[in-house]
Amino acid sequence: MSLKITEKCINCGACEPECPNNAIYEGSKECTDKKNDYYFIVPEKCTECLGFYDEPQCASVCPVDCCILDEENIESEEDLFKKINYVKNL
Ligand code: SF4
Ligand code: SF4
Repeated sequence: MSLKITEKCINCGACEPECPNNAIYEGSKECTDKKNDYYFIVPEKCTECLGFYDEPQCASVCPVDCCILDEENIESEEDLFKKINYVKNL
């Protein structure tokens, strides 16, 4: 499962540099298919921090607790490990 950022985001930017997979982007800046005006997580790159940290770093640093598990992107641990290799090769 990847994490997602909710509309409670205050655009503080604290999460972006903490992500080991560079999966977090400022709203409407890089991936133009996203129209959000707040930070967002690219699900294809988020591994829940598996392989790097014991807990999701974005959720740890977020001051308003708006980095939450995305129930629409449920993945097994095996899938997440496959994703780690995919992201490494990007
Ligand atoms: S859970 Fe980890 S990998 Fe996923 S977006 Fe947050 S910091 Fe990045
Ligand atoms: S740390 Fe939280 S409030 Fe700050 S940009 Fe990231 S998601 Fe938004």
